[in-house]
Parts: sequence; C-alpha cells; structure tokens
Amino acid sequence: TINLVWFRNDLRIRNNLALASACKNRKSVVLALFISVLEQWKTNLISDRKAILIHEHVISLRKELMKLNIFLHYCKSSTFLKSIDCLITFCKKNKVQKLYYNYEYEFFEKKRDNIVAKRLKKNFILSKGFHNSTLFEPGSIVNKKGEMYKKYSHFKKKCIMSLSENNFNEYSIPKKRKIFVKKNNFKISLLQFPIKKFYKQLFPIGEKKILKKLKLFLKNKIQSYNINRNCLSLNSTSMISAYLSIGVLSPIQCLSIFLKYHSNINTYTVGTCNWINELIWREFFKHLLYFYPLLSKNQVLCNWEKRIQWKNNEKHFHAWKNGRTGFPIIDAGMRQLNKIGWIHNRIRMITASFLVKNLLINWRNGEKYFISQLIDGDLALNNGNWQWIASIGNDSAPYFRIFNPIVQSKKFDNMGIFIKKYVPELKKVPISIIHDPHLWSNSIKATIKYPEPIVNLISSRKIAIKIFKLAKFTS
Ligand code: FAD
Repeated sequence: TINLVWFRNDLRIRNNLALASACKNRKSVVLALFISVLEQWKTNLISDRKAILIHEHVISLRKELMKLNIFLHYCKSSTFLKSIDCLITFCKKNKVQKLYYNYEYEFFEKKRDNIVAKRLKKNFILSKGFHNSTLFEPGSIVNKKGEMYKKYSHFKKKCIMSLSENNFNEYSIPKKRKIFVKKNNFKISLLQFPIKKFYKQLFPIGEKKILKKLKLFLKNKIQSYNINRNCLSLNSTSMISAYLSIGVLSPIQCLSIFLKYHSNINTYTVGTCNWINELIWREFFKHLLYFYPLLSKNQVLCNWEKRIQWKNNEKHFHAWKNGRTGFPIIDAGMRQLNKIGWIHNRIRMITASFLVKNLLINWRNGEKYFISQLIDGDLALNNGNWQWIASIGNDSAPYFRIFNPIVQSKKFDNMGIFIKKYVPELKKVPISIIHDPHLWSNSIKATIKYPEPIVNLISSRKIAIKIFKLAKFTS
C-alpha cells in the first residue's frame, strides 16, 4: 500500500502515533506531507515568531524524515478549507491508499478534518486519525454522567487515577524504510510574515535538541520547581511550551521521561509535583475545548459574562500593550512579551488580571494580543487561562480575586532583577521602592522618563468587584 502521513501540529518523528502506524507494515510505501495555510494563520493571528518556529521545524522534520527514507512533501495553500483540495489532489496524484494523521481539537480544524474524511471516502481512500497531543484521549476523563468535569480538582484526581491504567511509552523512532520515494523537492517557503528578531538561544530548533532540553530540565531542575517556579529571575521553568504547541514534543514524552527519571515516585504521588500539575492544567483546557466547540468561537460557558460593563479605554489598552502603564512589573512583563514572545506564567497572570480587572478591558482583547505575540500561542491554553483570570471560565478564579501588581512584584521579583532587565530606565531607582511608583519622590521622577501609573489600584479594584458582582448576580 501507499500510505501518507499528513503532518500538522505534530512536527516530530518520536512518539508520533500517525507516523508509527503508517510505518508498521515494512512493505508499504510511506509518504509525508505538510501543507502551509498562511491566510489562515493571519486570520488566527498567530505570531510571526511562532510562524518562524513552525517554518524551522518543518525544515528540520524534513531532514529527520529523510534519515528514515521518508520524503516530506510541502504544499502551499491559504486557508484550512483550501488545504483540503491540496490534500486530495496530492493523494490522487500519488495514488495514496491510506491517510494517517493526528487529531486536532479546535473547531475549524475539526470541521476541516470532517470534510477531508468525506472527500477521501468518495475517492476510495482510507483514513485513520490518532489522539496524540494530550495525555488522555479527550472524552475519556469524564464524570459518571459522561460529562466533562466542571472542577479542575476532580479532573486532576481522575487523571492521576488513570495514570496507572495507561501505558505511557515514549515510543521509538520508526525503522528506516527500504525504499526511498522522492517526487518533488519544493523549497519550504512558509514565511511571508514581517520577521521580528527570533531568539534561537532561548528557542533552539530541532527535535533532538528539544528532547535534550526537556531531559536536562527533568534531571536537574525539576527538584526545585515547586519552590522556585515563581521566582522571575531564576529561569526555573522548562520553557517547552512553544514545542508542545506545535507538537515537536508530546505531553506523553514529558510524562514518560519524568516517570523514567523519578521511578521512586508512584502514580499517586506524581500529582504532588507542581510541574505535572501544570501539564494537567494543559490537559484540562484541551479537553474543555474538545467538549465545548463554542470556546473556539469567542464564546463563553457562563451566562453573565455579557453583562459585564467593560470600559475598554483605548489609551489604557495601548499603554498596556506597550509596557507603559506606570507599574514596573506589568511594563517589564509586556515589554518581555513584545521582545521575545514568551513570558512566565506568573507574569501572564499579573498582566492579564490588571487588564481585565483594574482597567476593565474585555478579556478578548488581551487574549488576542497575547496570541499575536506569543511564540507558544495555543488557543486552548490561552483562552482557558484568560477565562480563568476573567473569572468567567470553568472553575475560574473568583471574580473578587484581583492580583495586586505591587504585592506580586515584591514577592516574585524581590530584587527587581526582572524589572531592571526589561525597564532599563528604572535602573537607578532603589530596590526598596522600585516596585511601587507611589513611593517615588519628585526628584526620582525628575531623573527618569517613565509614565505615571494609569490607574489607582485601590479604587479600580473596588469598581471591578462592583461591576463583576452586578453582572453575576443581577439578571
Ligand atoms: P512550565 O512551568 O515548565 O510548565 C510545563 C508545561 O505545562 C508548559 O509548557 C505548558 O504546556 C503547561 N502549563 C504550564 N502552565 C500552564 C497553565 N497555566 N495552563 C495550562 N497549561 C500550563 N501557555 C501556552 O502554552 N500557550 C498560551 O497561549 C498560553 N497563554 C496563557 C495566557 C495566560 C493569560 C496565562 C495566565 C497563561 C497562559 N499559558 C499559555 C500557560 C503558561 O503560562 C505557559 O504554558 C507557561 O508559562 C509556559 O512556560 P514553560 O513551558 O516554562 O512552563
């Protein structure tokens, strides 16, 4: 048979169920295909840094597959719907008999795959999809009624219980094919984006390098993760989110390598590790998106969100995006986001809470801005976390929980190292007062070029609580 592996959000050769299955029969011919959809990416606001990361990894994947005697074909298309024609034409031209792919759970991706399945059937081509971007098959972690858990803690408990029932293998690389079939050699030309600076030392390219990065983290840094993960100057997190988001790594690899290195931890105590907890949060948001397609379409599950009286002040939004709010920790975070396309989870929470609660700007604006900048932009995780911060999602922060940026700054960037790195104009402000612009004397203010705080934290907090309460409890 002639098998085709359609690579999408799974740019790896290890732990890739679609690829492994296509290669099972040693006699089959195996082809591989990647289709770029630039217009779609623009509509989806994916950041140019993420586009570069995908581009580089498609090139790297072609090299890795070549070692297995599999050639990665490349087609250029524009939208998800148009990519269907591209795929069908390719299948017909190359006499493909069976298509292998890993599922994606976003609404429009699912819609595309449903049409593909029908068109393939019409053309007598078989197809097989695999769940390979989550730890558990979405739909398998459910309550007794077969519904998605509303509470994260219940979802997590079920995940931990299910760990022992599943075999989390890393899966080896498929064996080298005997025959090499190469039909075209189109240059991979994904990039028509305005290219920003890409920090390769922070975001290395290549599956092997990323695996090494993950292994080093799990060997050396995970022990201190529970204590250090929130310290902003320590680089204490794994920084693998970008690779999970495009599938250079799979969560199963993360878990199986973790279990291999920590064989003393049994599947019940594994839940006490905060890093695994974060992977399960990822799982929670992915499963939510699977259960509720409306989340892919800018909608929410709660019925009172539409009653929130947003202020949506354009000037404030502009100041927030550009790191000019007058609150050092917020500004450092937003400038880091704009500079490298990645920020720490703590900073994401502080900046998001400030936008939604203190500035009363609709969370959708923040969600969109994050996606347009993040190298790890991921619909499920971004949407889930923004809804969590805005107190409108499943099992979200209560509406009256509002992060105080000054308190958070003192706690997690005690020495002001992070602030000074990204807001260099504050280098001369003494550490004892750097977090709180209200403590700066006029003479300090005169020596620095830095905006006055754009809101009063105390009064804006009170107003936010009132407005959220009103929306939630009046019908
Ligand atoms: P680590 O701390 O090493 O964690 C390991 C992995 O666990 C991460 O790579 C990620 O896949 C997962 N994870 C960690 N924190 C969370 C979380 N809060 N929710 C769900 N999964 C988590 N993450 C994205 O990958 N893409 C996004 O678009 C995204 N948008 C976010 C928006 C907001 C407002 C917030 C508060 C968080 C967002 N996150 C997003 C989650 C989180 O901030 C990042 O995954 C994390 O900072 C990535 O760094 P790391 O790989 O070093 O994480």
